[in-house]
Amino acid sequence: MTLRRRLLVAVAALAVVLLAAGGAVVAVQRAFLLDRLDAQIAALARNPRAILLASARAEAGAPAAGLSDVYVGRMGADGRLVTVLAPAGDPTLVPALTSGERVTTPAGRATSSGESRRVRVITAPLPNGRAQAVLAVPTTPADQATRRLAFTLGLVGLVAAGVLALLLWWVDRLGLRPIAQMTEAADAIRAGDTTRRVPPGPPGTEAARLGEAFNALVDSTAATNERMRRFVADASHELRTPLTTLQGYVALHTGRTGSGPDDDRSPVDPVVADALRRIGAEAARMRRLVDGLLDLARLDDAEATGALRPEPVDLAGVVRDVAADLAVVAPDRAVSVEAPASLVAVVDRDLVTQALVGLTSNAVRHTPPGTPVWLRLTAEDGAVRLEVADAGPGIDAAHLPHVFERFHRVDRARASASGGTGLGLALVEAVARAHGGTASARSEPGAGSVFTLTLPVASG
Ligand code: ADP
Repeated sequence: MTLRRRLLVAVAALAVVLLAAGGAVVAVQRAFLLDRLDAQIAALARNPRAILLASARAEAGAPAAGLSDVYVGRMGADGRLVTVLAPAGDPTLVPALTSGERVTTPAGRATSSGESRRVRVITAPLPNGRAQAVLAVPTTPADQATRRLAFTLGLVGLVAAGVLALLLWWVDRLGLRPIAQMTEAADAIRAGDTTRRVPPGPPGTEAARLGEAFNALVDSTAATNERMRRFVADASHELRTPLTTLQGYVALHTGRTGSGPDDDRSPVDPVVADALRRIGAEAARMRRLVDGLLDLARLDDAEATGALRPEPVDLAGVVRDVAADLAVVAPDRAVSVEAPASLVAVVDRDLVTQALVGLTSNAVRHTPPGTPVWLRLTAEDGAVRLEVADAGPGIDAAHLPHVFERFHRVDRARASASGGTGLGLALVEAVARAHGGTASARSEPGAGSVFTLTLPVASG
């Protein structure tokens, strides 16, 4: 659960607790007020006769302390209720009792004048045994007090909710939003947008300092990567010259027999000739490695190095050319092309050709002679898809996720013997990435492999 969600849940739980507490306070207060009314009428009911007399006198005009808000009635043996004294504030009030009803402990009742008025009522038998005194107090003041309390608590609750909402917004703005922005930036950088940084946070906050530290870290990583890329590019570049010289010397001295009409040099010892041949082969492999490293270094930051030169290219033509070249290089292979007559897309022709040649060369080097190879080109919504498939031995599931990594080879000895460098698929992936696309591989051991380049470029 995210921190923001946890905070929201905590605040919601707090609101529920506060609401329950408010409800409990109102209920307790109301019960307390009703208890007081009940105690008042219960005390009067202890001497019903005196109360009836005092009430009759009060009704006649004599003052009677403590009876001003009490209803006093007399219910005769016939069950009829006769009002002796009505509360001063509510002269029409008559408790709704059924004929002859006895209420021995104070209880709530409606009034016969209807509406929403209610009373607490108790009856007390008169000494003659057949009639009884009826004592009641209206609950209106208690109800009003309870309503006022509920209203006040509700108002305080609303203000508290407002303050809490403000507090949440403040915490979110200062603490949580910058974290979300940082996560977004980190995801974008991982996805390849190396220029992405987090915006400056509110000054003087931890989030702002964290954002600055994050940006500084990304800057320093980018600088280190750039230094590394430059170093690899420079080293590869520097290695090319001595390699060319080495290859030149090897070429000069291999194949020299000393038996030709113009060849007046002494023949080369067969052991030396073999050593020279092997030096030549290794120099060629090293050359491929150095070239691959240089290409990768350039492609690693295609935008910064300007390695990408996009132009409208008929990819169907490119695919057919690569297939034709493959048929010449590997005449034992059945090469099939599945592509529309023409499919123009804006890509870097050389890089896409290089990637396709790399894939077809792999299909030849890593499958037994005679294995058929397919090249497919399709267009889908806003993207083109280039596929090179073979019916070779396939790639083990354990290796499949790693084949695009630099220097990853499934079988090192066999790969080296096949003249591989372990950089071919890394280059293919770099070409796809430089176009904003992806490279993927699927394979079924024993059934073959399919390598796919998906380039998100407009086609027509
Ligand atoms: P390499 O220079 O060794 O070919 P790559 O990066 O081109 O390096 O390929 C990495 C590894 O993936 C190869 O060593 C090989 O084991 C495996 N591989 C590549 N293409 C195929 C294929 N078409 N069929 C089977 N294995 C393959």
